[in-house]
Amino acid sequence: MIAIHNPATLAHLADVPSATPAEIDAAVATAQAALDGPWQDPGVRKAALADIADIMERETEALAHILTLEQGKPLATARMELATAIRIARHYAAWDDHEPVIRDTPGERVWTDRIPLGVAGMIVPWNFPITILMMKLGPGLRAGNTVLVKPSPSTPLATLRLAELIAPVLPVGVLNVVPGDAGVGAALCAHPGIAKLSFTGSTPTGRRVMASCAPTLKRLTLELGGNDPAIVFADADIPAAARRLAMTVFSGAAGQICQACKRVYVERPAHAEMVAAFEEIVQGIRVGDGTDAGVMMGPLHTAGQRDFVGGLLDDARARKARVFQDGPALPDLPGHFMRPAVVSGIAADAPLVMQEQFGPALPIVPFDTEAEALAMANSGELGLDASVWSADEDRALAFARRIRAGSLFINTHAAPPDPEIPFGGAKQSGFGAELGDWGIDDASQRRVLKIERQVAG
Ligand code: NAD
Repeated sequence: MIAIHNPATLAHLADVPSATPAEIDAAVATAQAALDGPWQDPGVRKAALADIADIMERETEALAHILTLEQGKPLATARMELATAIRIARHYAAWDDHEPVIRDTPGERVWTDRIPLGVAGMIVPWNFPITILMMKLGPGLRAGNTVLVKPSPSTPLATLRLAELIAPVLPVGVLNVVPGDAGVGAALCAHPGIAKLSFTGSTPTGRRVMASCAPTLKRLTLELGGNDPAIVFADADIPAAARRLAMTVFSGAAGQICQACKRVYVERPAHAEMVAAFEEIVQGIRVGDGTDAGVMMGPLHTAGQRDFVGGLLDDARARKARVFQDGPALPDLPGHFMRPAVVSGIAADAPLVMQEQFGPALPIVPFDTEAEALAMANSGELGLDASVWSADEDRALAFARRIRAGSLFINTHAAPPDPEIPFGGAKQSGFGAELGDWGIDDASQRRVLKIERQVAG
């Protein structure tokens, strides 16, 4: 049994059983059986995804409440998480396949199609349990796969409730949830009956996942860590940039967002203004229990995560950086709360800058030349997103194109996942993609078809 606790109050919420090897085998067998039959009909899959969206819409309040209790984020953020998942389900419910033609002449016709990969394993982290699940389920189900989902051991409750709610609209065996810890995840990676593994989580775990998938040569999508830089030129609208970047790191999920801005590089003339803008923003942020109305930022999800981010801040202080952590009092609760921190006067190679902090602590580093800014933006092993800020769009775009990252933003930084826009990382932020048509490609076996004809004469 895995005990689930509320990260704000530390109250015990539930005990969830861990799937046994025999249960995993049984789930794979039922998922394999479900590949045949009604699930082969794309119309059935589209209708099921539309029904899933309707059910999530109807049950948003109840699911958001479970999410807040088990994950910690404020209810408003949990509702947004559900709304994003609903948009994804609706997008793939409406998505129509096509078979692109490569060549069509009197002598030959060459084109491509897609078929399902088979049973797909989906391993999900704790920060956005439902959105990230739907980023996998939407394209995965639409492409015709059947599924085993492994939620994070600390956030299985909303996933289990969702699966219970949508079971009636899916053929038996299409969706199976196997709760558990790393061992259950590793068993999915190694299982010979699973054809595809889609994993979202940290880069170190991603390496282990890739190794365990190697013996069966599974198709693999890895959505891993991010240390997203924002590069801000002095001609940018500094208050607007600070407000938009703060929405990613100092918002409800307390910076525990893979696409959050994790380091800011500012052209030196604008550095002081940028630091002041962030410091003003964090002073207004109320941290607390996500079920309290008016709370803007929840706790860190685990004690370990709070201690990790706290350790990076202690290290920054030891390096004589300025750590600004001022704002409304923290609640009188035993949870993993932390005030948002703006860190300036910190060296570009400090751990808080170079590591993914995954928490509400933002380092701001000045630069003098474009070459220096580019080297900083490309430093490190991760490459999820990057944003560039300038009044000169052409300059910003030309600069952004030299950054190795999966998504490049000009005068904005990430956003809630958009079902039409593919999402995936560069470097050790992973490979493969979710959402958009790329998501369907990643969930399918693509094939080439060719007909050759005798041409008379
Ligand atoms: P994690 O890597 O610890 O765990 C993710 C999932 O993998 C969990 O369900 C866990 O039980 C499972 N797991 C652990 N060990 C495993 C193993 N050996 N084999 C198979 N499965 C295993 O990540 P986390 O702490 O839950 O989430 C935070 C991390 O996720 C951060 O690094 C964040 O950047 C990353 N993340 C990435 C994206 C993205 O799309 N790129 C999105 C959200 C989070």
